[in-house]
Amino acid sequence: MARDYYGLLGVAQNATDQEIKRAYRKLARELHPDVNPETEAQEKFREVSAAYEVLSDPEKRRVVDLGGDPLESGGGGQGFSGAGFGGLGDVFEAFFGGMNSSGGARKPRGRVQPGADSLLRTRLSLQECAVGVTKHLTVDTAIICDLCTGSGTNGNSKPVRCETCGGAGEVQTIQRSFLGQVMTSRPCPTCRGAGETIPDPCRKCGGDGRVRSRREIAAPIPAGVASGMRVRLAAQGEVGPGGGPAGDLYVEIVEQPHDTYVRDGDDLHCTIRVPIVDAALGTTVVVDTILDGPVELTIPAGTQPGEVSVLRGHGMPKLRANSRGDLIAHLDIVIPTKLDSKQTDLLRKYKEMRGTERTEVLSAQSEHNSGLFARLRASFSGR
Ligand SMILES: [Zn+2]
Ligand SMILES: [Zn+2]
Repeated sequence: MARDYYGLLGVAQNATDQEIKRAYRKLARELHPDVNPETEAQEKFREVSAAYEVLSDPEKRRVVDLGGDPLESGGGGQGFSGAGFGGLGDVFEAFFGGMNSSGGARKPRGRVQPGADSLLRTRLSLQECAVGVTKHLTVDTAIICDLCTGSGTNGNSKPVRCETCGGAGEVQTIQRSFLGQVMTSRPCPTCRGAGETIPDPCRKCGGDGRVRSRREIAAPIPAGVASGMRVRLAAQGEVGPGGGPAGDLYVEIVEQPHDTYVRDGDDLHCTIRVPIVDAALGTTVVVDTILDGPVELTIPAGTQPGEVSVLRGHGMPKLRANSRGDLIAHLDIVIPTKLDSKQTDLLRKYKEMRGTERTEVLSAQSEHNSGLFARLRASFSGR
């Protein structure tokens, strides 16, 4: 039943958009009514214009590849007249590229429709976000009905033209207003715009061409994803009405908080508690990195409160890039709150040994203070 649109343009079924456009241009140059006024050529021109209209539109082309005919739905055997010389817009498009072919009669939207996209969320640990993971997910979507393979009909029965709208897919109502008569169109309530109805529907899907099903899928999640990102799985969404091509499935990442690290883009932050003596004498600490196992971090002698130590390249991998963020350790110098008498004596002795060192208010010009004022300025100007 479906017309051979590829054959009309003389291209293979896997032809690229460029090849289709080229084939149509060539035929249009030979057959265009301005060039070739013969009736036969005009009929042929209408046919190849219709074929081009269908194959240059990804949605219509998908319907053709599924064995349907996007120009026929509810058409009631009017041949190519529906496409007609509205095709002139397409000629301009083929010759000059990108002109809007506007106007022309509206066609019924057809029973076969592309399916909707679906979305589901999955929780990932920081580790999984860093390494990438194949997530096994249960999806609940419409799939094509295996009994009628999407046609929606029972056995060999066929859809028929809708009686309410005569196949147009819409109905007109005339309303009287103070401006005179106004005609409005709305989708046909009987066929819901399809232009055809199924008198003997499939026993399994009731004519929809699809059924709901729960299935397991393996979703490949790349390394470097973060909360809110969506991974697209093409054609794993809902199958459309009438068995139309499936939409896409999006898997949204929800990253779980980590015990040690707080993530900021590709960088990881952690806090390291450093007793005052270790800060003064210097020490090392082993950090369990997310991707490289234990790494030794050196805390140099004389480390000051608020200083950070950066492990370059030990953060999160950047998405689809061969580089990594940093691991930033914030050093929290801890001053003891409880001292026994022996410790107090030792610290008194230490104080004596330091001689001139004492508590004092600094001059605004001192090196130490300039750092403080720079920090204050930065915090007021929003960094
Ligand atoms: Zn109708
Ligand atoms: Zn069915």
